[in-house]
Amino acid sequence: MGMKISKRAQNVPASATIAVTSRAQELKAQGVDVVGFGAGAPDFDTPDYIKDAAIEALKAGKTKYTAASGIIELRTAIAEKLQKENGLSYTPEQVVVNIGGKHSVYEAMQAVLDPGDEVILPTPYWVTYPETIKLAGATSKIVQTDKSNGYKITPDQLKEALTDKSAMLLINSPNNPGGFTYTPAELKSLAEVLEGTDVYVLSDEIYEKLIYGDTEFVSFASLSKDAFGRTITLNGFSKAFSMTGWRLGYAAGPPDVIKAMGRLQSHMTSNPTTFAQYAAVEALGAPAGEAIEAMRVEFERRGQYMTERLNGIEGVQCTASTGAFYCFPDVSSHYGRNINGAQIGGSMDFAKALLEQANVALVPGLPFGCDKNVRLSFACSLEQITKGLDRLQEWLNQ
Ligand code: PMP
Repeated sequence: MGMKISKRAQNVPASATIAVTSRAQELKAQGVDVVGFGAGAPDFDTPDYIKDAAIEALKAGKTKYTAASGIIELRTAIAEKLQKENGLSYTPEQVVVNIGGKHSVYEAMQAVLDPGDEVILPTPYWVTYPETIKLAGATSKIVQTDKSNGYKITPDQLKEALTDKSAMLLINSPNNPGGFTYTPAELKSLAEVLEGTDVYVLSDEIYEKLIYGDTEFVSFASLSKDAFGRTITLNGFSKAFSMTGWRLGYAAGPPDVIKAMGRLQSHMTSNPTTFAQYAAVEALGAPAGEAIEAMRVEFERRGQYMTERLNGIEGVQCTASTGAFYCFPDVSSHYGRNINGAQIGGSMDFAKALLEQANVALVPGLPFGCDKNVRLSFACSLEQITKGLDRLQEWLNQ
């Protein structure tokens, strides 16, 4: 007899990005030389001054429970960061520290969404959003964006998507998987459409520090008083400080929302790891600028190279990455081909055949809502990028 699994759990598939990485790891374990473009984590180590702060905290006995929403020192440091860098005036009570940005997304949705609510979700979207929307009992109202508009939702599309059930708009800029960033003017025009509605904006700003060229980053909540009132600003330590394994994210927003998240958290997980929180205070306080900038510059160099190489491959079109560490080329002109016996019907077939035949791991666009595209992460060395793109080119040119 099969044991019962809840409908809730049955309805949530494993993360597609993790599936590709697992298969690539399997091949690597068999001794195959796989080039991995699947990474969602910076390939740099956490800066030493942050590690040292965690060790100090451990030695000082910071090993017990804290307030569920996080230590006041960290909530204060985050509020100060948001004021200084983002022009946002939140009190420490308007900040909740979570166990990673993913947890912040989940908890924010649990705090404000009800069954029947609709969340406006532009493509391409991070794979976790539709699942967390589902887990909150709400429905994704997916808005298909267009390459001609840089894959960004337009004010007209937003107007069209709004219904009396709309409860939230999801904005993720810089974007995973798209590698694009909304301009301040684009965000402003979206914010204006929402005026007079009671729709929340969940603004996932986790890639804030990773922007390239003359790209300008603004926080959605800073656009206007109206935007400030409706926005839940989401950020974390994973990408900016290369701290993915530390599991620290945060949300800031309207006091009632943050309080509700704190209440949920007090029963779900309690506080984020205590000594990690103390290290995070240091991460924000100490002059982190240099370490972050060195990472950013290196990502920019790799992103430019990857974009150029991709555009040099026949039937591949890639817009320059302006943020995060992803290229998201359209490879659909190869669909319908048969490559070495593999029929390429869409991005899933493309990724599978490329991995099996040419030992290059990338992530299909389908789970991000864009089947024409595939995602390549440039969070790996230039040498690996060169090798992987040589293989991709050769594979497609047959
Ligand atoms: N938002 C986006 C868009 C992401 O890509 C990620 C990481 N893949 C996160 C949030 C969450 O990261 P973490 O849970 O490590 O803070």
